[in-house]
Amino acid sequence: MLYLSTQGGHESDIVGALMQGLSPDGGLYVPEELPSIDSRQLNSETIPSFAADLLSPFFENSSLSPVLGEICRDALNFPIPLRSLETKNGNLAVLEVFHGPTAAFKDVGARFLAACMEKILPEFSISDARPVTILVATSGDTGGAVASAFHRRTGVRVGVLFPKDQVSPRQKHQLTCWDGNIRSFEVDGSFDDCQALVKAAFTNPELNRVHRFSAANSINIGRLLPQAVYHGIASLQYWRTHGSRPNFIVPTGNLGNAMACIWAKGMGMPIGDIVLATNSNRTITDFLATGHYETRPSIRTLASAMDVGAPSNMERLRHLFPDFGSLRTAVECYPVHDQAIRSQIAKDYSRFGRLWCPHTATGFWVYDNLPESRRLDKAWIVVATAHPAKFNNIVQGIVNLQEIEIPPSLASLLELPVQFESLGTELGAFGEALARWDN
Ligand SMILES: *Cc1c(COP(=O)(O)O)cnc(C)c1O
Repeated sequence: MLYLSTQGGHESDIVGALMQGLSPDGGLYVPEELPSIDSRQLNSETIPSFAADLLSPFFENSSLSPVLGEICRDALNFPIPLRSLETKNGNLAVLEVFHGPTAAFKDVGARFLAACMEKILPEFSISDARPVTILVATSGDTGGAVASAFHRRTGVRVGVLFPKDQVSPRQKHQLTCWDGNIRSFEVDGSFDDCQALVKAAFTNPELNRVHRFSAANSINIGRLLPQAVYHGIASLQYWRTHGSRPNFIVPTGNLGNAMACIWAKGMGMPIGDIVLATNSNRTITDFLATGHYETRPSIRTLASAMDVGAPSNMERLRHLFPDFGSLRTAVECYPVHDQAIRSQIAKDYSRFGRLWCPHTATGFWVYDNLPESRRLDKAWIVVATAHPAKFNNIVQGIVNLQEIEIPPSLASLLELPVQFESLGTELGAFGEALARWDN
């Protein structure tokens, strides 16, 4: 399988695409064509075995192909249950993608990429003994998932940069509770400042002489591909039990989770309609309404991991559907404002006894606001992207709870001691911090 850049100027094999992240021409890597899978042949008994079957065409003829099964067992080592909810006609279910170590779906992609890189690195290190240094700027969820995924893996270390005073207390703990090959840096600035520092380091010739940098951000195809696995296996399980294709509602920011769902459907998984839910950031909604694509500054909302004004995976979506008419039939999108997020959390706590994180709540609001005939006639799966305990500072107040039960994996992270270095926004001090790390 060959991977093309969405900018059209470059192609790569899977190993190159995983190690580079972004293509040298600035585009995002996409598979040359989506493999066509006969879903009736797939074994849906365990997630790792399903994953290895579904993803094998993407790794064909690469050095990772023989170890793909091992990578899937290593990375996908937690449950991703599909649970039905008590509705009148029993056609609503929630896909819980938040049972990984940092309690959000980003664990799936980060763990898969880390497992792939650990296999690739020995090949790359024959002529270069320096460890690979991954730098990741985070607004909250990504940094914790990447740190956890790479913790104690050999040949690689991770620097996490997060904005001071702009992450929740529990997010901060998850970003700073690491030792060994992980370092955390609190930047006295915004998320954009963190990103600018990472970019400055990546392009600084002096630092590049000393360090071997790599990226693990969400545009890396190694994070996207495994996300097709849970959409795929959930649709197959539903189809095998009920004989119909479920529709999906996907809470969306950078369009990574949604893009993986679209790829799963494109490969032949029994997925019906794909409906996106966003917060008040309307870039995708307005594009689908007008055909005119215009990015804008992001607005801060309760669903902070979806505060995106320029969704990075839009390039992949437009590359897959170059014609606007077909793009518009492939996805729909509805924005959900903060007040609706609050009332949806309260409503579903009383009707299902279930608590959603603010991101997941956007999906349930969209379900509730579908035209009734469509809502009741078809089966719907809402993707739950994070555990509510991760956003306890928002959720507890809405439902008047003292303390949300914390899942064991998250609880054990919250017991670890924290350590981090404080930085300004200049590259000089960051370079010195990286130099100290060498000693
Ligand atoms: C990252 C994230 C999202 C948005 O996912 P995208 O792939 O960027 O669309 C939604 N919910 C949570 C909890 C997240 O961490």
